[in-house]
Amino acid sequence: MEPLYVQIHPRDNVGIIVNPEGLPAGAVFAGGLTLRERIPQSHKVALGRLDAGAPVIRYGEVIGHATRDLLPGEWIREDMLLLPSPPPLDELPLATAVPAPLPPLEGYTFDGYRNPGGSVGTKNILGITTTVQCVAPTVEYAVRRIRQELLPRFPNVDDAVAITHTYGCGVAIDAPGAAVPIRTLRHISRHANFGAAPLIVSLGCEKLQPSRLFPNQRLIPAGAAELPVLEADPYVVRLQDEDLRGFGAIVSAILRVAEKRLDELNRRRRVPCPASALIVGLQCGGSDAFSGVTCNPAVGFAADLLVRAGATVLFSEVTEVRDAVHLLTPRAVNADVARALIREMRWYDEYLARGEADRSANPTPGNKRGGLANVVEKALGSIAKAGTSALMAVASHGEQVKSKGLVFAATPASDFICGTQQLASMNLHVFTTGEGSPYGLALAPVVKVSSRTALAERWFDLIDIDAGRIATGEASIADVGWELFHFLLDVASGRKKTWADHWGLHNALAPFNPGPVT
Ligand code: CA
Repeated sequence: MEPLYVQIHPRDNVGIIVNPEGLPAGAVFAGGLTLRERIPQSHKVALGRLDAGAPVIRYGEVIGHATRDLLPGEWIREDMLLLPSPPPLDELPLATAVPAPLPPLEGYTFDGYRNPGGSVGTKNILGITTTVQCVAPTVEYAVRRIRQELLPRFPNVDDAVAITHTYGCGVAIDAPGAAVPIRTLRHISRHANFGAAPLIVSLGCEKLQPSRLFPNQRLIPAGAAELPVLEADPYVVRLQDEDLRGFGAIVSAILRVAEKRLDELNRRRRVPCPASALIVGLQCGGSDAFSGVTCNPAVGFAADLLVRAGATVLFSEVTEVRDAVHLLTPRAVNADVARALIREMRWYDEYLARGEADRSANPTPGNKRGGLANVVEKALGSIAKAGTSALMAVASHGEQVKSKGLVFAATPASDFICGTQQLASMNLHVFTTGEGSPYGLALAPVVKVSSRTALAERWFDLIDIDAGRIATGEASIADVGWELFHFLLDVASGRKKTWADHWGLHNALAPFNPGPVT
């Protein structure tokens, strides 16, 4: 393979090395540029001379300033860049460059499960919510029994899942931050893939009482003589109830309501639904310098296709949007949406400041090994996932998204916390990765897209889509974007399975709790 680098924007004064093994000193590119030292794949090379203090430009944006004079062909490492300040939140343009609506894309459908309230499932699962960690092993025991003893009798149900977490007690439940994990768990309990019908197991003495999780709602006790056929009212099993004598009786009570719910779920059938019923959550994890060249732009292309088909596309991860927010507020559909985006950035700035987090807290060592020098470079690559359409709405942490089109749903960047928070809304998940992660979720299919072909080849049975072909010119961004779009429709229909679901790789749920622990 000839020495090759990619330059994203004509203004860029750095390129990214494409060759899988990196390139040795003396390697000469087609344009005449000669490497002064060995540079690994996905790391940056200076395309021209840069004086100390000069802006280093990638994606047409400043990712830092040179700490010393740099010569053409030099390897630009993290320590040669001075980190710029984040864009000031008070001076951002509001809805000044709203993209025109993209042409509609009609006729695309998937086979999903319609719920009475209008949501559409991509899986058919019995979900059992826990109000507190104390009951988690009991529910996991019950779920093992459900899988062995009950599921074989309900062939249309895909699985039974315990919704366990570390929240629920020992927390300042009236503190403002408590609203985030509580609403997250409320929406997850009603997930479209559970038929939007909650089944709750409570201990009894915990702070997160079922009535707090579902205020103004009729809660049906598990011991009720006749369990009514319900669409949405939650069943509750309370372990400390006087009439549950011994562990056997507790498990039997859970199995009794589970069987009732399985009977309802088993009657569901997949029916053709418009692609507009998809709510696709996007995130990246283990990013490298290629993520912003290959997988994230391909996901951005697919995001535009989904928006054109009327679907909802969520992008998240506040700390990876913060340094590129000046590119997003102009794209907001109106000034209110732009202000809501700024509100989420400011809230998180203050949250991080309280914890005295410095700006090097993100990226990770793996990100840096992959050639990402700092959070500015990471953010510019990350927002490529959001495509080119107008930003239609902003949701705060754990809020359920109701809008169509491109939506910013605020979450931390942490993979498992972001995924958990997005589950408040999404029925399908796209995860891009450069370094590689076997991440998956039980509640919604997770489609994994790699930034480099080497990763897709090494993890041939973990990565679903290889976007690395874009760097070498074997495929275009549009090719991979369309491939991903069709794959998403197949996965949402149950026609194809993600590798994470094939192996049953399902990460723990980790609701974001910004409130105090007592
Ligand atoms: Ca992430």
